[in-house]
Amino acid sequence: MRQISHFIDGVATHIPGVKSPVYNPATGEVSGEVQFASSDTVETVVASARAGATRWRNATMAQRSGVLFRFRQLLLDHADELAALITLEHGKTTPDAHGELARGLESVEYACGLSELLKGSFSSQVADGVDVHSLREPVGVVVAITPFNFPVMVPLWMLANALAAGNAVIVKPSERDPSPSVRLGELLTAAGLPDGVFSVVQGNADVVRQLITHPEVDAISFVGSTPVARSIYETGTQAGKRVQALGGAKNHMVVLPDADLDVAADAAINAAFGSAGERCMAVSIVVAVGGIADALIDAISARMDRLTVGPGHEAGVDFGPVITRESRDRIAQHVVNAAADGVRIVRDGSDLVTRPGFFIGPCLLDGVRPGLASYDEEIFGPVLGVVRVADYASAVSLINNNPYGNGVAIFTRDGNVARHFTRDVTVGMIGINVPIPVPVAAYSFGGWKDSLFGDAHIYGPEGLNFYTRGKVVTTRWPQASDSQIDLGFPRNN
Ligand code: NAD
Repeated sequence: MRQISHFIDGVATHIPGVKSPVYNPATGEVSGEVQFASSDTVETVVASARAGATRWRNATMAQRSGVLFRFRQLLLDHADELAALITLEHGKTTPDAHGELARGLESVEYACGLSELLKGSFSSQVADGVDVHSLREPVGVVVAITPFNFPVMVPLWMLANALAAGNAVIVKPSERDPSPSVRLGELLTAAGLPDGVFSVVQGNADVVRQLITHPEVDAISFVGSTPVARSIYETGTQAGKRVQALGGAKNHMVVLPDADLDVAADAAINAAFGSAGERCMAVSIVVAVGGIADALIDAISARMDRLTVGPGHEAGVDFGPVITRESRDRIAQHVVNAAADGVRIVRDGSDLVTRPGFFIGPCLLDGVRPGLASYDEEIFGPVLGVVRVADYASAVSLINNNPYGNGVAIFTRDGNVARHFTRDVTVGMIGINVPIPVPVAAYSFGGWKDSLFGDAHIYGPEGLNFYTRGKVVTTRWPQASDSQIDLGFPRNN
């Protein structure tokens, strides 16, 4: 059986612990085994990271950017291998796995510019003979807790900026697909990262609880579901940590009557069913405004006929299985419940559940609405709901009353309405004729409301700020003749 290790002091390290199976979702068979860290192992990892942080904060900028540049090249050299590992444990298609890696690489490339990004500022002669400069220092030991749905991209979102800033990073990957993080560690070591600066500790909620309250941990980046995000934020901040906790989503795609129907239908298909809908930026609700609903549903439904669902490594497959048997059954049950709630089931992909592996086909539900589980809950599968509303104002109020606020999109040919939309919605990431508006790495990623706890978005400039603390230094080199006794509060004039 393939054993999936921790990554401690620069090497993959096997330590016996409670065993947990890792499945190949395309076959339903166990493909490996991960052993969860004991409390002692967590202590070992944190001690190693603390020593690594002390070493790495004193590495020169040239040494740090050198490691990141070499790491970037190694990610490219090993792209096929990493994509295959993602597909094996997560199930997404090979092209989708390469897409995930490409978006993670963006964060590494952004962090390669650390000598520019970490520049402080300097003000000369703010008072007579007095200068001021600012600098940013690493926070210390950063814990990165990541979800199953992007086992390479989300760790890269976190580790790139955190390492660039001079921190040590401990990743606690999802127990569903824990291997890619270990491979990232090996590539970082090969890139010249000193031992202890990057670690991976395997485990579940118990390991997380120990990490987020550990006195030697300084900051916590979490990405996952909303209930866990909320609890990590509350526990972590109560323990005095800096926390950013990104949660779940229910992303709406508004289609106005003037939108190009084919463009909108293609976009809905891509954004709802790509990666089997297991993306936090997936479109899960289409909001059909005015009279466009029937034609739009027909256009989406016709395209669903052309989708191929199968093992992610096979050519020509549009989307693969979902992550677990429990997920598959939960998603299928949602469709059953929606029908019982009076929702029209336009397409039901549940017939695929009889295949080996964790498959469910694309589903389209017409007439979901607030108050029904099919609208209120994050289904996180290939299920697209349609809400019909009379006008633009009703679409905005639907979106703003939803507790989530991760992503949203509007499809229209009217630039003025689109511009108003960007100002009207209480959502962090907005697409205009772009269904999955994940910002490029020079901007930061984050939702509003129940989609993010804390005030820092992730990666990009806000990510770098999160992993650093500011200092401001005021300097004077007085001559003895300038010195005097003056107990007044110092004025600068
Ligand atoms: P999850 O919340 O179940 O798990 C995320 C991480 O937390 C894993 O490492 C897991 O081991 C750990 N964990 C699980 N339960 C815990 C508990 N009770 N206490 C402490 N730690 C716990 O999420 P998931 O199923 O792996 O990922 C899917 C979810 O992540 C979806 O809700 C999706 O929307 C969200 N997500 C959000 C973003 C974003 O950027 N906002 C990105 C990707 C995924």
